[in-house]
Amino acid sequence: MAEPILQVRGLSTYFFADEGVVRAVDGASFDLYPGRTLGIVGESGCGKSVTARSILRIVERPGRIVGGEILLRRHSGQVVDLVTLPSDGSAMRQIRGGEIGLVFQEPMSSLSAFHTVGVQLIEAIRLHSPLSKKAARARAIELLALVGIPRPAHRIDAYSFELSGGLRQRVMVALALAAEPHVLIADEPTTALDVTTQAQILELIARLQRERDLAVILITHDMGVIAEMADDVVVMYLGREVEKGPVDAIFHAPRHPYTQSLLRSIPSVLAEPRARLATISGSIPHPLARPAGCPFHPRCPDAMPGRCDADVPVEVSFADNHVTACHLYTEPVA
Ligand code: SF4
Repeated sequence: MAEPILQVRGLSTYFFADEGVVRAVDGASFDLYPGRTLGIVGESGCGKSVTARSILRIVERPGRIVGGEILLRRHSGQVVDLVTLPSDGSAMRQIRGGEIGLVFQEPMSSLSAFHTVGVQLIEAIRLHSPLSKKAARARAIELLALVGIPRPAHRIDAYSFELSGGLRQRVMVALALAAEPHVLIADEPTTALDVTTQAQILELIARLQRERDLAVILITHDMGVIAEMADDVVVMYLGREVEKGPVDAIFHAPRHPYTQSLLRSIPSVLAEPRARLATISGSIPHPLARPAGCPFHPRCPDAMPGRCDADVPVEVSFADNHVTACHLYTEPVA
């Protein structure tokens, strides 16, 4: 396998509120490779979006990165720790959007309603390249065609509110690719879309990845999307990684009870008619009231009283880069 393009080591991002400290991300570590998709999955509030925002250095106050490294191999080949760069400095501005593209969940809130799609694309292109306005417009039309927008030379002059949800999300992908990044972070890119459009956008991202050897971080709460798209998976719960590994290992031999519960809650066409969908018992604790020991213990069907509610489980590694943090596994099993 090629060298990783991004290595996250022990990343911790906390929010310092008046009521207390929220450990939104607590020691995340993973590698991202060219041409592969890393899926980060978990329920709301598990820290997956804050992980993405930390990588891009756009965590809003009162949040801040309190530990760890984010090592990016830049276009030049130089490796830089993004945590050491000023978040609003020129290097980080070049990397954000230039070397790491971003697609958000809701294009309406990310696209300006006051400027045409073309104006926004041309601005993004010229921010990271010395092209003239005319050349940038030609490039913008090419990008719109690349992401499958019909009649791109016409649509370039449309406003975002004149486009359907699916076309808006395609424009977001075009914007993310404007500076030819090597890394694409897609944060719940299809959550607001209907099922058919969702499949089209996922297929678009997969095609662009194949054509450009893009490294993709895909953030989602949907295990079905992970099964479809990811090569590697990180499962997060209350800011901590609870299990990670290749997608086959996670789906065919999940070890952590939280991962097992997430998988049981995927709807199946093979289920009995009217069969009740399995759900995870209880609800996610308030971030300021993180349970002691294993944070999943109040909801875990396998919790061991006296152990799970007292001691934080450490990560145990198995064959094939499969790692889990659970007291059921104190040493690797065959
Ligand atoms: Fe369940 Fe205990 Fe494992 Fe946590 S450590 S997932 S409570 S068995």
